Amino acid sequence: MKVFLELGWFFKQEKKAYISGVFLLLIVALLQLVPPKVIGIIADHINEGTITKAMLVEWVIVLVGVGIAMYVLRYYWRIMIFGSSVKLSKILRNRLYQHFTNMSPAFYQKSRVGDLMAHATNDLSAIQQTAGAGVLTLVDSLSTGGFVIIAMAFTISWKLTLICLIPMPFMAMLTSWFGTMLHKSFYKAQEAFSSLNDKTQESISGIKVIKTFGQEQEDIEDFRKQSEDVVQKNIVVAKIDSLYDPTISIITGISFFLSIAFGAKYVLNDELSIGELISFTTYLGLLIWPMLAFGWLFNIVERGRASYDRVATLLREKVEITDHDKALDTLPYGDIQYQIAEFTYPGDSQPLLNDIFLSLNAGETLGIVGKTGSGKTTLLKLLIREFEGYQGEILFGGQKLQDYKLEKLREAIGYVPQDHFLFSATVAENIAFTDPTATSEEIEHAAKLANIHDDILQFTDGYQTIVGERGVSLSGGQKQRISIARALLMNPEVLVLDDSLSAVDAKTEEAILSSLRQNRKGKTTIITSHRLSAIQHANLIIVLENGQVIERGTHEDLMELDEWYKEMYVHQQLEELVEHGGH
Ligand code: ADP
Repeated sequence: MKVFLELGWFFKQEKKAYISGVFLLLIVALLQLVPPKVIGIIADHINEGTITKAMLVEWVIVLVGVGIAMYVLRYYWRIMIFGSSVKLSKILRNRLYQHFTNMSPAFYQKSRVGDLMAHATNDLSAIQQTAGAGVLTLVDSLSTGGFVIIAMAFTISWKLTLICLIPMPFMAMLTSWFGTMLHKSFYKAQEAFSSLNDKTQESISGIKVIKTFGQEQEDIEDFRKQSEDVVQKNIVVAKIDSLYDPTISIITGISFFLSIAFGAKYVLNDELSIGELISFTTYLGLLIWPMLAFGWLFNIVERGRASYDRVATLLREKVEITDHDKALDTLPYGDIQYQIAEFTYPGDSQPLLNDIFLSLNAGETLGIVGKTGSGKTTLLKLLIREFEGYQGEILFGGQKLQDYKLEKLREAIGYVPQDHFLFSATVAENIAFTDPTATSEEIEHAAKLANIHDDILQFTDGYQTIVGERGVSLSGGQKQRISIARALLMNPEVLVLDDSLSAVDAKTEEAILSSLRQNRKGKTTIITSHRLSAIQHANLIIVLENGQVIERGTHEDLMELDEWYKEMYVHQQLEELVEHGGH
């Protein structure tokens, strides 16, 4: 029951609704006592032959009145209690979502997407159940149960009540045993479901690869197995669940048997009237619901507790990359200096970057080249604070990156990765992603700079064409150019192109780069590229190998140096020539 305490903050917040809901529940529990009593009284009058029409009408009016009152009150407590519990899942869902958006890529590297989805769906609904049905069953089983027992003992026969309650302790024990069993099996079912979620998500995102390698059958088989596993584990839950009701029926059956057997004896001994016995057995019938509710309470609360624990653990997970108290609320501006002795990815044993010392004046262009895996992207990820934990510092305008609010830092840097994500929205909305208030002129201007304007005009609905799964499918190069337009619209202090021209041809690349040179005068640009022609105009070029700078200088310096850069440059020039037949 600890979970009710843990949810205390919420009950406090929704105090009014819960107090009124519980109050109405108590009234309903009391009203429930009336009909059995009335039936007993009428039965006695029939038995004694003293029943009159007027009396019958009177009692029927009472019964109908009580019935209507219970109907109305039940409606309102449902709204109050269940209505509030929906709010709980909304609050938790928002918290989770906000937490998810604050977490850094390192968090997503170690969490499974399927688990996160399961927390956001199954776990939240289990918690909501606890705050709704859980509270209801707790209050209702205690109040209805308590009132009925009191009515039986004090208004009919305490002896008979005691006898009929004998089976109850067994029921409490069995209920708690079922609760534990259910919790265990439910947990396993939940885990299996989460694995299945993960697998589905992975397969759907990787469907192209799966098809390319003809792995469909294997994948389907794998899915079938996992899905079977979920079914099996849920069947176990269902089996335990299904055993519960019959067990309860046996126990209530025994109770009824005792009430009739002993009650009949008391009637024969004149200790009890027929009407009282009828009332008594009807009351006993009313006890079945609270008993069952008590059983359900256990499993609802068990599920809720397990889910709440998981969600709470997740919410407690620290956001690794946060603003410190005195972080500057200004846009960073100025020179960029890397002074990094060493950087190791979380969980790795070897450092990936070593001795990166370089300085870039505001307004200059830096070109970073090197083999795949040499650490180019990593270097950029440190600049946008996707990862931290390096030895040394990175300065921006003379201040450490951490001295700025993360939001301001990211606002100053327009980062375009190689593979950017486009949303299922219009082209215009995708470009204006960071600034939904942008005018269509601004959007078109950015698109022109990124050399995608003409392509967009060719689409059926121009800038209003939907892209992504539900709309037009774009080539890799078009996606890249839309991503660049998106970054350019921010007109960032620093534009970072992380191999983001890999899918466009050399001519388009040159066109984009030269329009950037003209339009971004005085602003800093950092480009990583496989094609050396893309960075040859840079003020500073560095060549990375195994996370170290092995060459640095301008294009001319590096050509003169006559090492990796020159070799690669000549090689690429030749390739270009061959591709275009020497023209
Ligand atoms: P490049 O951009 O030069 O191709 P990267 O910086 O992307 O190189 O990657 C350099 C190395 O870092 C690669 O060996 C890659 O496997 C590793 N790496 C990249 N991202 C991560 C990460 N998030 N966690 C651990 N290792 C990573």
